[in-house]
Amino acid sequence: MELEFRLLIIKKAGVFAMSVSDINAEKKWRKLPKELRQRLIQNVFCTKCFETTIVDYSVLDDEHGILLTGKCKTCGKDVARVVEDA
Ligand SMILES: [Zn+2]
Repeated sequence: MELEFRLLIIKKAGVFAMSVSDINAEKKWRKLPKELRQRLIQNVFCTKCFETTIVDYSVLDDEHGILLTGKCKTCGKDVARVVEDA
């Protein structure tokens, strides 16, 4: 179940891979404390490397919060994570 959810997120990320960061999402993202943002980008799931750091990422608005989409720092694969609204 959890893996299916993750795959769904990755699929979704693929759809938006070409778009630029969403302004609303960017605002929400920047409101988070810098330390928290740092922790979130260093704790992203990669299908190959498992826990990784996301690089070259965009921030998109998501119904559950914001969606970070970018690349795995280690292998370059597309990765994504949802940051849920507090
Ligand atoms: Zn990776």
